[in-house]
Amino acid sequence: MTREYGRVYNFSAGPAVLPEEVLKQAADEMMNYENSGMSVMEMSHRSKTYDNIIKTAEKDLRELLNIPDNYKVLFLQGGAHLQFSMVPINLLKNGVADYIVTGQWAKKAYTEAQKYGKINKVATSEDKTFSYIPDCSDLPISEDADYVYICENNTIYGTKFRTLPNTKGKDLVSDMSSCFLSEPVDVSKYGLIYAGVQKNVGPAGVQIVIIREDLIREDLPEWCPTMLKYKTHADNDSLYNTPPAYGIYICGLVFKWLKKMGGLGKMKEINEKKAKILYDFLDSSKLFKGTVEKNSRSLMNVPFVTGDEELDKKFIEEAKNAGLVQLKGHRTVGGMRASIYNAMPIEGVEALVEFMKKFEKENA
Ligand SMILES: *Cc1c(COP(=O)(O)O)cnc(C)c1O
Repeated sequence: MTREYGRVYNFSAGPAVLPEEVLKQAADEMMNYENSGMSVMEMSHRSKTYDNIIKTAEKDLRELLNIPDNYKVLFLQGGAHLQFSMVPINLLKNGVADYIVTGQWAKKAYTEAQKYGKINKVATSEDKTFSYIPDCSDLPISEDADYVYICENNTIYGTKFRTLPNTKGKDLVSDMSSCFLSEPVDVSKYGLIYAGVQKNVGPAGVQIVIIREDLIREDLPEWCPTMLKYKTHADNDSLYNTPPAYGIYICGLVFKWLKKMGGLGKMKEINEKKAKILYDFLDSSKLFKGTVEKNSRSLMNVPFVTGDEELDKKFIEEAKNAGLVQLKGHRTVGGMRASIYNAMPIEGVEALVEFMKKFEKENA
């Protein structure tokens, strides 16, 4: 299989595949962005040209997600990992929060938050290696909880919340890193949404936070670093200091691409179609099987196994030689994982399934 530029089908969980149209446009604009005589990489973040880039990116994102006016959009750094700290630092008022632990990332967030308050684990799916989303319709939510925390799409285990937890009136905080912009979202159901863009949106180094204005507080503990206050960034339109300027520009190009594709409703349709091709095959295969309970399946990350570690290894190796790369499962779970984000074309999923069929025949 030879593709333009010798590119492969990249099933990496992140940093991950980006739309080729966007990469080409970035290449075209690399030496001279819109007659500025320079690359966006070389440009002052205080220039008019850059201001237009970041403002347009925010405007397009607001349009795509239909973000209500009483929410701020912040472009930050530090990865999802820094949000594991920023969320409790900024949102704990009573000093209590409830976490739903559905995977490694939620667990890490839960562990980190312990530094700042009384953090309760109100539900978990660890008993079955995080292969499902627990029933969250009637959890023991703490009366004085400042927020309820979820990791909405579990990148490593391939599970996704199909319905949001009943937070009993508490604000919901969601790590959407690996499902951000994969489908429409009712932002008003959340107090705070955050996402590392290197999964489904752009290059590593940018973190998008969408936060309801009343959660942006001034009265934070004296020790809180200026850079870790949402207020600092909200008051300065994400330009308090030098932002990850080039990454934000690429995100902006991806937002334009998503709009051109027809928006998030259309993306959901395409993503469902792609995932169905893969899941239908997994459900009919005698060799491969999915590892996730059916009603918890993610549209973005699809883990599967043969049940034989040696055969898994052989599959990953042979797939790689066929131009289907980064199919190795996360180091903590093994097996395989195909991440099929927005930018993975349907042809990539079809090629993967064709290859799996061939492999199954050869190894029957
Ligand atoms: C990748 C990922 C993280 C970690 O992101 P970093 O940018 O490496 O900090 C956290 N949460 C989810 C859901 C992820 O997919």
